[in-house]
Amino acid sequence: MKRQVYLDYSATTPVKDEVLEKMIPYFTQSFGNPSSLYTIGQNSKQAIEEAREQLAALIGADPKEIFFTSSGTEADNWAVIEAAESRKGKGSHIITSKIEHHALLHSAEYLEKRGFDVTYLDVDSQGFVDPAALEAAITERTTLISIMFANNEIGTIEPIAELAAIAKKHNVVFHTDAVQALGNVPIDAHALGIDLMSVSAHKIYGPKGVGALYIRKGLPLPSHMHGGGQESKKRSGTENLPGIVGFGKAAELAREGLAEHIEQVTALRNYFINRVRAEIPDIHVNGDIERRLPGNANITFEFIEGEALLLLMDLDGICISTGSACSSASLTPSHVLTALGMPAEIIHGSIRFTIGDFTTKDDLDYTIERLIHNVEKLRGISSVSKEKGWQIYGAV
Ligand SMILES: *Cc1c(COP(=O)(O)O)cnc(C)c1O
Repeated sequence: MKRQVYLDYSATTPVKDEVLEKMIPYFTQSFGNPSSLYTIGQNSKQAIEEAREQLAALIGADPKEIFFTSSGTEADNWAVIEAAESRKGKGSHIITSKIEHHALLHSAEYLEKRGFDVTYLDVDSQGFVDPAALEAAITERTTLISIMFANNEIGTIEPIAELAAIAKKHNVVFHTDAVQALGNVPIDAHALGIDLMSVSAHKIYGPKGVGALYIRKGLPLPSHMHGGGQESKKRSGTENLPGIVGFGKAAELAREGLAEHIEQVTALRNYFINRVRAEIPDIHVNGDIERRLPGNANITFEFIEGEALLLLMDLDGICISTGSACSSASLTPSHVLTALGMPAEIIHGSIRFTIGDFTTKDDLDYTIERLIHNVEKLRGISSVSKEKGWQIYGAV
Protein backbone atom coordinates (compact mmCIF):
# COMPACT_ATOMS: atom_id res chain seq x y z
CA MET A 1 0.00 0.00 0.00
CA LYS A 2 1.14 3.51 -0.78
CA ARG A 3 2.52 5.38 2.16
CA GLN A 4 0.17 7.98 3.70
CA VAL A 5 1.46 10.90 5.74
CA TYR A 6 -1.11 13.31 7.17
CA LEU A 7 0.27 16.77 7.90
CA ASP A 8 -2.93 18.81 7.95
CA TYR A 9 -3.99 18.63 11.61
CA SER A 10 -5.15 22.26 11.52
CA ALA A 11 -7.75 21.34 8.88
CA THR A 12 -9.09 18.47 10.95
CA THR A 13 -7.83 15.60 13.11
CA PRO A 14 -8.65 11.90 13.16
CA VAL A 15 -10.97 10.85 15.99
CA LYS A 16 -8.96 9.10 18.72
CA ASP A 17 -9.92 5.48 19.49
CA GLU A 18 -10.92 6.30 23.08
CA VAL A 19 -13.20 9.06 21.77
CA LEU A 20 -14.90 6.82 19.20
CA GLU A 21 -15.38 4.03 21.76
CA LYS A 22 -17.07 6.42 24.14
CA MET A 23 -19.35 7.72 21.37
CA ILE A 24 -20.60 4.46 19.87
CA PRO A 25 -23.23 3.44 22.48
CA TYR A 26 -24.92 6.83 22.09
CA PHE A 27 -25.82 6.00 18.49
CA THR A 28 -27.53 2.73 19.42
CA GLN A 29 -28.64 1.53 22.87
CA SER A 30 -28.17 4.89 24.66
CA PHE A 31 -29.97 6.94 22.05
CA GLY A 32 -32.61 8.62 24.24
CA ASN A 33 -33.51 12.25 23.68
CA PRO A 34 -31.88 14.25 26.50
CA SER A 35 -35.14 16.17 26.95
CA SER A 36 -37.15 12.99 27.62
CA LEU A 37 -38.05 12.28 31.22
CA TYR A 38 -37.67 8.49 31.24
CA THR A 39 -34.43 6.81 32.18
CA ILE A 40 -32.66 6.54 28.83
CA GLY A 41 -33.46 10.20 28.16
CA GLN A 42 -32.06 11.24 31.51
CA ASN A 43 -28.97 9.09 30.94
CA SER A 44 -28.36 11.06 27.74
CA LYS A 45 -28.77 14.30 29.64
CA GLN A 46 -26.24 13.10 32.17
CA ALA A 47 -23.76 12.19 29.43
CA ILE A 48 -24.05 15.72 28.03
CA GLU A 49 -23.47 17.23 31.46
CA GLU A 50 -20.35 15.09 31.88
CA ALA A 51 -19.06 16.38 28.52
CA ARG A 52 -19.81 19.94 29.61
CA GLU A 53 -17.68 19.41 32.73
CA GLN A 54 -14.86 17.88 30.69
CA LEU A 55 -14.76 20.81 28.27
CA ALA A 56 -15.11 23.37 31.07
CA ALA A 57 -12.11 21.81 32.84
CA LEU A 58 -9.98 22.20 29.70
CA ILE A 59 -10.71 25.94 29.36
CA GLY A 60 -10.88 27.08 32.98
CA ALA A 61 -14.63 27.69 32.87
CA ASP A 62 -17.67 26.73 34.87
CA PRO A 63 -19.77 24.02 33.14
CA LYS A 64 -22.74 26.44 33.18
CA GLU A 65 -20.75 28.72 30.87
CA ILE A 66 -20.51 26.10 28.08
CA PHE A 67 -23.13 25.95 25.30
CA PHE A 68 -22.77 23.25 22.68
CA THR A 69 -23.24 24.17 19.02
CA SER A 70 -22.96 22.42 15.66
CA SER A 71 -19.46 23.78 14.93
CA GLY A 72 -16.83 26.40 15.60
CA THR A 73 -18.37 28.34 12.72
CA GLU A 74 -21.76 28.43 14.44
CA ALA A 75 -20.17 29.56 17.72
CA ASP A 76 -18.37 32.41 15.90
CA ASN A 77 -21.55 33.51 14.08
CA TRP A 78 -23.65 33.36 17.24
CA ALA A 79 -21.16 35.25 19.39
CA VAL A 80 -20.35 38.03 16.97
CA ILE A 81 -23.73 38.65 15.38
CA GLU A 82 -25.83 38.42 18.54
CA ALA A 83 -23.36 40.33 20.74
CA ALA A 84 -23.29 43.15 18.20
CA GLU A 85 -27.01 43.22 17.35
CA SER A 86 -28.10 43.17 20.99
CA ARG A 87 -25.87 46.13 21.87
CA LYS A 88 -27.00 48.43 19.08
CA GLY A 89 -28.46 50.76 21.70
CA LYS A 90 -24.91 51.61 22.78
CA GLY A 91 -23.38 51.76 19.30
CA SER A 92 -22.74 49.90 16.10
CA HIS A 93 -18.95 49.65 15.89
CA ILE A 94 -17.02 46.41 16.28
CA ILE A 95 -13.31 45.63 16.02
CA THR A 96 -11.63 42.52 14.67
CA SER A 97 -8.41 41.72 12.78
CA LYS A 98 -7.47 41.12 9.17
CA ILE A 99 -6.28 37.56 9.86
CA GLU A 100 -9.42 36.03 11.35
CA HIS A 101 -10.97 32.81 10.08
CA HIS A 102 -13.70 33.29 7.48
CA ALA A 103 -16.32 32.22 10.04
CA LEU A 104 -15.48 35.50 11.76
CA LEU A 105 -14.68 37.73 8.78
CA HIS A 106 -17.84 36.79 6.91
CA SER A 107 -19.94 37.36 10.05
CA ALA A 108 -18.35 40.81 10.33
CA GLU A 109 -19.12 41.51 6.66
CA TYR A 110 -22.71 40.44 7.26
CA LEU A 111 -22.90 42.98 10.10
CA GLU A 112 -21.47 45.66 7.79
CA LYS A 113 -24.34 45.00 5.38
CA ARG A 114 -26.70 45.54 8.28
CA GLY A 115 -25.25 48.95 9.02
CA PHE A 116 -22.42 48.21 11.44
CA ASP A 117 -18.97 49.77 11.14
CA VAL A 118 -16.17 47.25 11.39
CA THR A 119 -12.49 48.03 12.03
CA TYR A 120 -10.19 45.31 10.70
CA LEU A 121 -6.91 45.72 12.59
CA ASP A 122 -3.61 45.23 10.78
CA VAL A 123 -1.09 42.75 12.08
CA ASP A 124 2.72 42.98 12.01
CA SER A 125 4.96 40.82 9.84
CA GLN A 126 4.71 37.93 12.35
CA GLY A 127 0.92 38.14 12.54
CA PHE A 128 0.57 39.93 15.89
CA VAL A 129 -2.24 42.36 16.65
CA ASP A 130 -0.79 45.44 18.38
CA PRO A 131 -2.57 46.08 21.72
CA ALA A 132 -1.93 49.84 21.38
CA ALA A 133 -3.60 49.82 17.95
CA LEU A 134 -6.57 47.99 19.43
CA GLU A 135 -6.93 50.55 22.19
CA ALA A 136 -6.65 53.41 19.69
CA ALA A 137 -9.44 51.93 17.56
CA ILE A 138 -11.98 51.84 20.41
CA THR A 139 -14.64 54.57 20.30
CA GLU A 140 -17.68 55.31 22.43
CA ARG A 141 -19.74 53.34 19.93
CA THR A 142 -17.61 50.17 20.15
CA THR A 143 -19.51 47.21 21.58
CA LEU A 144 -17.46 44.17 20.60
CA ILE A 145 -13.85 43.15 20.00
CA SER A 146 -13.12 39.78 18.42
CA ILE A 147 -9.50 38.66 18.03
CA MET A 148 -8.55 35.03 17.42
CA PHE A 149 -6.51 33.18 20.06
CA ALA A 150 -4.19 31.53 17.54
CA ASN A 151 -4.13 31.75 13.76
CA ASN A 152 -5.02 28.70 11.69
CA GLU A 153 -2.61 29.43 8.82
CA ILE A 154 0.57 30.72 10.45
CA GLY A 155 0.06 29.52 14.03
CA THR A 156 0.77 32.89 15.66
CA ILE A 157 -0.62 33.06 19.23
CA GLU A 158 -2.06 36.49 19.99
CA PRO A 159 -1.51 38.34 23.32
CA ILE A 160 -5.05 37.47 24.43
CA ALA A 161 -4.75 38.46 28.12
CA GLU A 162 -3.51 41.91 27.16
CA LEU A 163 -6.16 42.39 24.46
CA ALA A 164 -8.97 41.22 26.75
CA ALA A 165 -7.77 43.59 29.50
CA ILE A 166 -8.00 46.53 27.08
CA ALA A 167 -11.54 45.52 26.13
CA LYS A 168 -12.51 45.27 29.79
CA LYS A 169 -10.98 48.67 30.61
CA HIS A 170 -13.24 50.24 27.97
CA ASN A 171 -16.28 48.16 28.91
CA VAL A 172 -16.34 46.37 25.53
CA VAL A 173 -17.29 42.69 25.13
CA PHE A 174 -14.29 40.50 24.18
CA HIS A 175 -14.73 37.41 21.98
CA THR A 176 -11.97 35.09 20.84
CA ASP A 177 -12.01 32.28 18.27
CA ALA A 178 -9.97 29.67 20.13
CA VAL A 179 -10.63 26.80 17.70
CA GLN A 180 -6.93 26.36 16.91
CA ALA A 181 -5.68 27.17 20.41
CA LEU A 182 -7.86 24.56 22.13
CA GLY A 183 -5.79 21.55 23.14
CA ASN A 184 -2.61 23.26 21.92
CA VAL A 185 -2.20 26.14 24.37
CA PRO A 186 -3.17 26.24 28.06
CA ILE A 187 -6.43 28.25 28.24
CA ASP A 188 -7.96 29.70 31.38
CA ALA A 189 -10.99 31.68 30.26
CA HIS A 190 -11.56 33.24 33.70
CA ALA A 191 -7.94 34.24 34.28
CA LEU A 192 -7.65 35.63 30.75
CA GLY A 193 -10.78 37.77 31.17
CA ILE A 194 -12.52 36.41 28.09
CA ASP A 195 -16.26 37.09 27.67
CA LEU A 196 -17.02 34.82 24.72
CA MET A 197 -14.93 32.02 23.21
CA SER A 198 -15.55 29.64 20.30
CA VAL A 199 -14.15 26.10 20.16
CA SER A 200 -14.62 23.01 17.98
CA ALA A 201 -14.24 19.26 18.54
CA HIS A 202 -12.76 18.11 15.23
CA LYS A 203 -9.52 20.07 15.69
CA ILE A 204 -8.78 18.22 18.96
CA TYR A 205 -9.28 14.56 17.91
CA GLY A 206 -13.04 14.72 18.42
CA PRO A 207 -15.82 14.32 15.84
CA LYS A 208 -16.84 16.81 13.17
CA GLY A 209 -20.08 18.75 13.52
CA VAL A 210 -19.84 19.77 17.16
CA GLY A 211 -18.51 22.95 18.72
CA ALA A 212 -19.20 25.13 21.72
CA LEU A 213 -19.48 28.73 22.79
CA TYR A 214 -18.18 29.79 26.20
CA ILE A 215 -20.34 32.61 27.54
CA ARG A 216 -18.98 34.24 30.68
CA LYS A 217 -21.44 34.01 33.57
CA GLY A 218 -23.63 37.11 33.69
CA LEU A 219 -22.87 38.25 30.13
CA PRO A 220 -26.12 38.79 28.25
CA LEU A 221 -26.19 37.08 24.85
CA PRO A 222 -29.48 36.37 23.06
CA SER A 223 -30.07 32.96 21.47
CA HIS A 224 -29.78 32.62 17.75
CA MET A 225 -31.60 29.28 17.40
CA HIS A 226 -35.15 29.28 18.66
CA GLY A 227 -37.14 26.17 19.50
CA GLY A 228 -37.33 23.59 22.26
CA GLY A 229 -35.13 25.50 24.70
CA GLN A 230 -32.18 23.12 24.89
CA GLU A 231 -28.82 24.29 26.33
CA SER A 232 -30.47 26.31 29.12
CA LYS A 233 -32.77 27.92 26.56
CA LYS A 234 -29.76 29.47 24.85
CA ARG A 235 -29.34 27.18 21.85
CA SER A 236 -32.35 25.17 20.77
CA GLY A 237 -32.21 21.99 18.72
CA THR A 238 -31.97 18.38 19.88
CA GLU A 239 -28.40 17.92 21.05
CA ASN A 240 -25.84 16.04 18.94
CA LEU A 241 -25.53 13.46 21.71
CA PRO A 242 -22.72 11.22 20.36
CA GLY A 243 -20.88 14.29 19.07
CA ILE A 244 -21.04 16.09 22.39
CA VAL A 245 -19.98 12.94 24.28
CA GLY A 246 -17.02 12.65 21.88
CA PHE A 247 -16.12 16.31 22.33
CA GLY A 248 -16.11 15.81 26.10
CA LYS A 249 -13.82 12.79 25.91
CA ALA A 250 -11.49 14.57 23.46
CA ALA A 251 -11.35 17.54 25.85
CA GLU A 252 -10.51 15.25 28.77
CA LEU A 253 -7.71 13.58 26.80
CA ALA A 254 -6.43 16.98 25.67
CA ARG A 255 -6.31 18.26 29.25
CA GLU A 256 -4.59 15.17 30.64
CA GLY A 257 -2.04 15.07 27.84
CA LEU A 258 -1.55 18.80 27.21
CA ALA A 259 2.02 19.21 28.49
CA GLU A 260 3.20 16.04 26.75
CA HIS A 261 1.37 16.97 23.51
CA ILE A 262 2.95 20.43 23.43
CA GLU A 263 6.43 19.06 24.12
CA GLN A 264 6.24 16.22 21.60
CA VAL A 265 4.63 18.17 18.78
CA THR A 266 6.85 21.23 19.25
CA ALA A 267 9.98 19.03 19.11
CA LEU A 268 8.80 17.40 15.87
CA ARG A 269 7.86 20.77 14.38
CA ASN A 270 11.28 22.24 15.22
CA TYR A 271 13.02 19.18 13.80
CA PHE A 272 11.05 19.60 10.58
CA ILE A 273 11.66 23.36 10.24
CA ASN A 274 15.36 23.04 11.04
CA ARG A 275 15.89 20.30 8.45
CA VAL A 276 13.92 22.16 5.77
CA ARG A 277 15.98 25.29 6.50
CA ALA A 278 19.24 23.37 6.28
CA GLU A 279 18.41 21.27 3.24
CA ILE A 280 16.24 23.40 0.93
CA PRO A 281 17.54 26.78 -0.26
CA ASP A 282 15.38 29.90 -0.69
CA ILE A 283 12.67 29.14 1.84
CA HIS A 284 11.30 31.13 4.72
CA VAL A 285 9.13 30.34 7.67
CA ASN A 286 6.04 32.53 8.11
CA GLY A 287 4.70 33.61 11.50
CA ASP A 288 6.45 34.01 14.82
CA ILE A 289 8.80 31.20 15.73
CA GLU A 290 8.33 31.42 19.52
CA ARG A 291 4.70 32.36 20.16
CA ARG A 292 3.36 29.77 17.76
CA LEU A 293 1.06 26.76 17.81
CA PRO A 294 3.11 23.61 18.52
CA GLY A 295 2.30 21.82 15.26
CA ASN A 296 2.42 24.68 12.76
CA ALA A 297 5.09 25.08 10.07
CA ASN A 298 4.03 27.56 7.37
CA ILE A 299 6.82 27.73 4.83
CA THR A 300 7.32 29.69 1.61
CA PHE A 301 9.28 27.93 -1.13
CA GLU A 302 10.43 30.65 -3.48
CA PHE A 303 10.13 30.24 -7.25
CA ILE A 304 7.41 27.61 -7.13
CA GLU A 305 3.64 27.40 -7.15
CA GLY A 306 2.32 25.99 -3.87
CA GLU A 307 -0.61 24.27 -5.57
CA ALA A 308 1.77 22.37 -7.85
CA LEU A 309 3.86 21.28 -4.89
CA LEU A 310 0.73 20.20 -3.01
CA LEU A 311 -0.33 17.99 -5.93
CA LEU A 312 3.11 16.38 -6.31
CA MET A 313 3.25 15.72 -2.58
CA ASP A 314 -0.24 14.19 -2.78
CA LEU A 315 1.07 11.75 -5.40
CA ASP A 316 3.59 10.73 -2.74
CA GLY A 317 0.74 10.23 -0.24
CA ILE A 318 1.49 13.37 1.77
CA CYS A 319 -1.42 15.63 2.85
CA ILE A 320 -0.52 19.30 3.22
CA SER A 321 -2.32 22.53 2.43
CA THR A 322 -1.93 25.93 0.88
CA GLY A 323 -3.54 28.55 3.05
CA SER A 324 -6.44 27.27 5.04
CA ALA A 325 -8.52 24.27 4.04
CA CYS A 326 -11.51 26.52 3.51
CA SER A 327 -9.81 28.78 0.96
CA SER A 328 -7.39 26.30 -0.57
CA ALA A 329 -9.65 25.67 -3.54
CA SER A 330 -9.51 29.33 -4.56
CA LEU A 331 -6.75 31.20 -6.32
CA THR A 332 -7.07 34.40 -4.32
CA PRO A 333 -3.91 34.72 -2.24
CA SER A 334 -4.34 33.94 1.45
CA HIS A 335 -5.76 36.96 3.31
CA VAL A 336 -3.56 36.04 6.27
CA LEU A 337 -0.26 36.04 4.37
CA THR A 338 -1.38 39.20 2.53
CA ALA A 339 -1.92 40.87 5.92
CA LEU A 340 1.69 40.00 6.86
CA GLY A 341 2.77 42.19 3.94
CA MET A 342 3.93 39.37 1.66
CA PRO A 343 3.67 39.92 -2.12
CA ALA A 344 1.19 37.71 -4.00
CA GLU A 345 3.90 35.78 -5.95
CA ILE A 346 5.58 34.73 -2.71
CA ILE A 347 2.28 33.85 -1.08
CA HIS A 348 1.55 31.41 -3.90
CA GLY A 349 4.66 29.43 -2.94
CA SER A 350 3.51 28.98 0.64
CA ILE A 351 2.54 25.68 2.22
CA ARG A 352 1.10 24.89 5.63
CA PHE A 353 2.34 21.72 7.31
CA THR A 354 0.56 20.93 10.57
CA ILE A 355 1.86 18.18 12.81
CA GLY A 356 -0.19 16.30 15.41
CA ASP A 357 -0.26 13.47 17.92
CA PHE A 358 0.06 10.67 15.37
CA THR A 359 2.97 12.22 13.44
CA THR A 360 6.29 10.38 13.71
CA LYS A 361 9.86 11.47 12.99
CA ASP A 362 9.86 8.89 10.24
CA ASP A 363 6.83 10.62 8.62
CA LEU A 364 8.78 13.87 8.64
CA ASP A 365 11.94 12.27 7.21
CA TYR A 366 9.90 10.87 4.33
CA THR A 367 8.17 14.24 3.83
CA ILE A 368 11.51 16.10 3.73
CA GLU A 369 12.94 13.61 1.25
CA ARG A 370 9.94 14.08 -1.07
CA LEU A 371 9.98 17.87 -0.52
CA ILE A 372 13.62 18.12 -1.60
CA HIS A 373 12.83 16.06 -4.71
CA ASN A 374 9.60 17.86 -5.66
CA VAL A 375 10.82 21.40 -4.95
CA GLU A 376 13.89 20.76 -7.11
CA LYS A 377 11.71 19.36 -9.88
CA LEU A 378 9.33 22.33 -9.85
CA ARG A 379 12.14 24.85 -9.69
CA GLY A 380 13.72 23.16 -12.70
CA ILE A 381 10.65 23.82 -14.85
CA SER A 382 9.68 27.13 -13.31
CA SER A 383 9.64 30.25 -15.43
CA VAL A 384 10.58 32.28 -12.40
CA SER A 385 13.97 31.98 -10.81
CA LYS A 386 16.41 33.85 -8.70
CA GLU A 387 18.32 34.83 -11.83
CA LYS A 388 15.30 36.16 -13.70
CA GLY A 389 13.82 37.84 -10.65
CA TRP A 390 10.13 37.76 -9.80
CA GLN A 391 7.72 37.17 -12.65
CA ILE A 392 4.21 35.88 -12.68
CA TYR A 393 4.41 32.11 -12.91
CA GLY A 394 3.94 30.91 -16.46
CA ALA A 395 3.99 34.40 -17.97
CA VAL A 396 7.12 33.93 -20.09
C1 LIG B 1 -11.63 25.19 11.83
C2 LIG B 1 -11.79 26.58 12.33
C3 LIG B 1 -13.04 27.17 12.49
C4 LIG B 1 -14.31 26.47 12.08
O1 LIG B 1 -14.65 25.42 12.92
P1 LIG B 1 -15.67 24.32 12.34
O2 LIG B 1 -16.01 23.49 13.53
O3 LIG B 1 -14.91 23.57 11.29
O4 LIG B 1 -16.83 25.05 11.78
C5 LIG B 1 -13.13 28.44 13.00
N1 LIG B 1 -12.03 29.11 13.35
C6 LIG B 1 -10.80 28.59 13.22
C7 LIG B 1 -9.62 29.38 13.65
C8 LIG B 1 -10.63 27.32 12.70
O5 LIG B 1 -9.42 26.81 12.55
